[in-house]
Amino acid sequence: MSNTKYIFVTGGVTSSLGKGIIAASLAKLLQAQNYRVTIQKFDPYINVDPGTLNPYEHGECFVTDDGAETDLDLGHYERFLNVSTSQANNVTTGRVYQTVIDKERRGVFLGKTVQVVPHITNEIKERMCLLGETGDYDIVITEIGGTVGDIESLPYIEAVRQLIWELGDENAMVIHLTLIPYLSAAGELKTKPTQHSVKTLMESGVKANVLVCRTEHKISDDIRKKLALFCNVKQEAVIESIDAETIYDVPLLMLNEGLDQVVLNTLKLKSKPIDLNRWKDFLNKYKNPKQQITIGLIGKYVELQDSYKSILESLIHAGASNEIKVIIETIHSEHISSQNVSEKLKNIDGVIVAPGFGGRGIEGKIDVVRYVRENNIPFFGICLGMQMAVIEHARNVMGHLEANSTEMDEQCKAPVISIMEDQKAITEIGGTMRLGAWDCELSEGSLAYKAYNKNTISERHRHRYELNNHYRKDIEASGLKATGINPKTGLVEIVENPNHPWFLGVQYHPEYKSTVLNPHPLFVDFVKASLLNKTLK
Ligand code: GLN
Repeated sequence: MSNTKYIFVTGGVTSSLGKGIIAASLAKLLQAQNYRVTIQKFDPYINVDPGTLNPYEHGECFVTDDGAETDLDLGHYERFLNVSTSQANNVTTGRVYQTVIDKERRGVFLGKTVQVVPHITNEIKERMCLLGETGDYDIVITEIGGTVGDIESLPYIEAVRQLIWELGDENAMVIHLTLIPYLSAAGELKTKPTQHSVKTLMESGVKANVLVCRTEHKISDDIRKKLALFCNVKQEAVIESIDAETIYDVPLLMLNEGLDQVVLNTLKLKSKPIDLNRWKDFLNKYKNPKQQITIGLIGKYVELQDSYKSILESLIHAGASNEIKVIIETIHSEHISSQNVSEKLKNIDGVIVAPGFGGRGIEGKIDVVRYVRENNIPFFGICLGMQMAVIEHARNVMGHLEANSTEMDEQCKAPVISIMEDQKAITEIGGTMRLGAWDCELSEGSLAYKAYNKNTISERHRHRYELNNHYRKDIEASGLKATGINPKTGLVEIVENPNHPWFLGVQYHPEYKSTVLNPHPLFVDFVKASLLNKTLK
């Protein structure tokens, strides 16, 4: 067995407490002490992956280099740690059951009755240890989705209990994230919900080693003492997690609270000098911007900020690197028409047209593209947003009024966006898109080439439709250039309008690769161009 140490992060009292951010912040502190750390997320729902989920359910679906459609928390892990995750970093109940049932069909269980304990729990344990056993990591942090006490979480909690028993107290531990609500009528912070949730955990045989307490007010020493006594943890293991101005403050807040020290002590690991200089430099720039711009984000899931999580975070990274505060105005594409587009965009310095699926709201997106093209407003189209730029160009520049994507109109007479050849025979929805990292070659002199400053890039994808190469020559001849091409398939990855100050659409998702320490070059350049547009107004 390897020497990897395991940390499990569970949640109590309510959902949405930010387990992912706490896990990522702890990982950051350990990484800054030169420990090799990875984080994985186990989600108790039955979907095999979140790829089939509507963004209204759990927010954006994050995509890894190896083409896994994953929970958005993996985005936080990558943005905080600046390392890539993979399929192994996200497991769901659906995937666990699918594997166990496949094994049963192959006869692997030799006539035994297949049961939640031990078969499902064994499969969970195996997956919990998978990354640890590669020898690549000193510490593996596993975030368990959902809230302790949920029926669907039980097999995971049981797997954690068994693993701690097998690995020993010095090699595995539990951090329980909980809420300390403030009752304004009583003027008090209340510990009872936390006591109950720790008890629920104990009923399953799992003892929390550390309590991370989400709170809107500072937690006094008396409350820390009380929580320690009733929840069976050391007083220094009661960690306050007060609401922060930005999620990127959380590693420093956790450092002040000594979360890394309690964890290292529990796991009998040495604490080492910590280097967070680059992180602090980012925060300093982020908090002291010299200028300000407003970016319009045009999409159809704008009510829910998690739907476009990676785009919003990429704009934060790009803003900080330019020392510009980026205000994001989300605009619902269904509420836009050619009549009101100028009014809707009147305070906007640059526009992003968001990714998406299906026909709802696309005409509004096309109206936006026309307006920004004609008015020299910086335009950044991502995936569906790029496809909208191609359709707009075909309709309003080339004169193909009936131009569309076959996703929206299968019988369309000018299908400038059409289904990819290898997608035609696919009937199942889950995990069947063109996913993950693909190479793309950039044309010298293009906006993209200048931003990336290299010939070949690799970016992540999640789509079924593409620019129809049958129209490519005419599209380019009429002014919309294909400046990024997949060298193997000829698929158009980037379009640009050289007669415009900054007009660029990408078939891929650059937002999945932006991190705090490596802001994405296209977002950085787009933010710069939007500031220039603002100053020229
Ligand atoms: N619906 C489009 C396609 O499948 C775009 C997908 C996206 O924006 N991620 O090609």
